[in-house]
This record gives sequence, C-alpha cells and structure tokens, in this order.
Amino acid sequence: MEHEAKEAKEPENVETANGTNGVQGVLDRRLTDEEFERYSRQMIVPGMGRHGQLRLINSSVLIIGAGGLGCPAAQYIAGAGIGTIGIVDGDVVEISNLHRQVAHATSRIGTRKVDSLIAHLRAINPLPTYIAHPFHLTPQNGADIIARYDLVLDCTDNPATRYLISDLCVLLRKPLVSAASVQKSGQLIVLNCPPSPQGVVDRPCAPCYRCCFRKPPPPNATVSCGEAGIMGPVVGMMGVAQAGEAIKILASGLHLPRDRTNSGGGSSGDVPPLDEAETNLLQPTLLIYSYDLASAVGPYTFRALKMPGRRRNCFACGEGSTLTLEGIQSGQPDYVQFCGAQFPPQTGALAPEERITAAEYHAARRRGELPPHVLLDIREWEHFSFGSIEGAANVPFGKFLTKAAAIRRDGGEPEEVLPLEAREKGREAPIFVVCRRGIDSQETVAKLKELGLDYGGTRKIVDIAGGMKAWKDEVDPTFPFI
Ligand SMILES: [Zn+2]
Repeated sequence: MEHEAKEAKEPENVETANGTNGVQGVLDRRLTDEEFERYSRQMIVPGMGRHGQLRLINSSVLIIGAGGLGCPAAQYIAGAGIGTIGIVDGDVVEISNLHRQVAHATSRIGTRKVDSLIAHLRAINPLPTYIAHPFHLTPQNGADIIARYDLVLDCTDNPATRYLISDLCVLLRKPLVSAASVQKSGQLIVLNCPPSPQGVVDRPCAPCYRCCFRKPPPPNATVSCGEAGIMGPVVGMMGVAQAGEAIKILASGLHLPRDRTNSGGGSSGDVPPLDEAETNLLQPTLLIYSYDLASAVGPYTFRALKMPGRRRNCFACGEGSTLTLEGIQSGQPDYVQFCGAQFPPQTGALAPEERITAAEYHAARRRGELPPHVLLDIREWEHFSFGSIEGAANVPFGKFLTKAAAIRRDGGEPEEVLPLEAREKGREAPIFVVCRRGIDSQETVAKLKELGLDYGGTRKIVDIAGGMKAWKDEVDPTFPFI
C-alpha cells in the first residue's frame, strides 16, 4: 500500500528532477523484459518501484578507488543497475590485495585494477556502461572526470585525495558518499547531499568533508610505517554500505541540485519541499564500525554520530570561500602539503651518525664490531611474529608512544619505555631502532633522546635506515616482509 501511494505521488517531483537533469521523459519508458526480470526483487521493495529503478538506470556513479572499499561497493552498484559506472584507479592487482579486494582474482594479478574490476562487474551485470579511468585522481584531471557523473563514491585510502575529492564535489555540486577503513574500524558518511551552491549559508545546507573533518588525521594514524593492516570484512562492510547509500540517493532523486533560494518553501512550483530524508542529510550521520578481534558483537560495534551541517567558515563550501576549479588545477590549495604539514618533523632530521644502513648494520654485526646492544623492533607484533632480526626486542610503536607520553606527563623511569630484556643489557648499551620502512624508527630515536636515554650523548641511539624493507632488499632476500 505504502508502495502504491509513493508511486502515485512521484510524478511531480520527477518532473522537476528531470527538468534539472535534462533527462525528461526517461521515467515514462517501459522496462525491457530483461530489466524487469533482473531488477524485480529490488523493485518490489517499498519506495523503489519502477520509477526508482528507472532513476537508477538513468544515473551515473563514479567510484574512485578499485580496492577494499571500491570492489564491494561496485558489485552492488552494478548489480542494482546504475546505468553508467566509472572506475578510477591507477594501480595493478597484487596478491596482497586479494583478501579484501574481492572483485579481483588470482588469475588477474598484474593487470590494471580498473580492468579487473570491470571484467568482474560485467559478469554480474552486462547492462550498465562501464568507463575505465586507469590513473589516479589528481588536481589536474579530477574536475573533468567528476563532472561527468551524478554521484561520487570516495573509496580511496589517503587523506590528500579525500580532501581533493570533497573540494571538487563542492564546486561541481555532486553528492559524495565517503568511507574509510583502517585496521579494525571503518566509517561512512554522506556529504554534500543534496548539493548546494558554494558559499550559501543563509539556509541549512549539507556539509562537505572539510566541514566535518577540518584537519587531516594525525600523521601517526595515516603514515605509520606499520601501514596499519586491514581486515577484509571491515572494509567490505563499509564498501557495501556506501553502495547502499548511493542507491538510496539516486533512486529517490536526492542527488539532484535544487535551487531553493526561498528557504521557506512556500508554494513555488519548482521548489520541491524538504522531505524527511533530505532533512536528515543536512546534518548527516557518521557511522562508525569497530571490529574487535578479541570480542564477539559488542555494545560499540556500530556507533552513529550526528554531524553538524555546513560550517559557515568552511574553507571549501562556506561563506566567501575562494576555492575554485582553476585554482585547484593550478595547485591551490596544495593538498599534499596540507596533509603532510603534520608529518613528523624528525623525518630526515637525524644526524648522519644517528643512522646506519641495514647492510652496514649487518656487516658490523658479522665482523663483531658492535658492542652488546639493544635492537629495538617497533613494528606491530603481528609483523614481528612473521620474522625478525636475531636478538631483536619488540615494542610496538603505538605502545611505545603511549608509554613515552605517560612518562613525560606523570614522571617515572624513562628506561621503562624499553622492554625488560633490553633494560637488562645496561644503560651504556647502544640502542638500534628498526621498524617496517624506516619512518617510525626515526621518530622513536628522537623520542628516546627526548626522554634522556642517550645520557647526554654518552649512549648511541641509532636508526636503521629503511627498516625491515631495507633489510630484505640489502641483506636477506628471503626475509618474510609483510
Ligand atoms: Zn564545507
């Protein structure tokens, strides 16, 4: 019944929507026999109907990133019959992708991800038009690509690209379904939907990514050389949810920009009223999924945070914003600098005598030139458990930072940041620090000195440059580096 009522009401909204989108009349056509059969199970869901399906068929989605989020998202986007599906990704399929990037296959290792994903999608549904963009999204190419689509899914994994995508979506007035996943948690939010012109603040408008996340995450959260790791179902869940949100928006026409200059609504024929779904999106919900390996479903497995709407002084969408497409294309703002400004200043700042290459360390050890020393391996335990340099003591970087901060804050014995086996070597034993790729180890060397563990320079604290990756490249090619 509800379904019938919704269908009967639709035509008014639809006319406005189609007028805006230039696809008048598309909702009048009949579905082909194949479409009817293929989509019948979703068309009978209340609220979807034939019109919802036709809107999907006439819409286009850009999926940026063909990885852990993009693969599951794309499967459901294609299955649902979105008419045009663009995929952006510059990478090739690697074996380490396959535990989570479920649309790729062992037989396609080494092929471009966009091609691999599209082959998989065509097998699910040959009806949509698939467009491959086999390169990474950049400030130079981004606007041209995004402009061609109705809605964007951000399935990327780096902060600079996230801000770039959001800024372009603001300027091009595209709704953005943004998801992220690291290690054991994921998040999801619908942004810029329905899209409003940049700078409008005299009525409630949906926020952009910058409204919700003014600053990039702290560098340790993004560039830890442990490179975090990731659980397949966590990122998969977020990707599937992204597809779900996109389908909802497109089937109901919420993605279409509306020029609601008289916010009171009134009876103006071409100003559609704010409906409940739209009102919700003006202050969208951030969904957070936490996946604790040590527990079954718990009270904090899913959390939902209500986010504020458009921020008046937002750099991208707020009042008086100077962000432009031309500016972005010519390098303003500088996304890498914006996201990298907080990178550890210690990187590259160590003196030459505070660093040793993996090959030099190995050679000195073999020749017996090194005194008894501490070899501190600060990779996550999961990495350490696959293999380490003989005699290494493990303290995961995150735990080390927490402990170091506690000692600085509350006082305490600085030596206690070291594991017991390291302390037993004595305070004069030099410390060599190794991590995965040689980034966290530099910060660790600096922190150990801040704590005074170099005892005024009498004890050497040295970074093994390039980490265990360099160890594998320079010393032991059989080392199981992950
Ligand atoms: Zn904003």
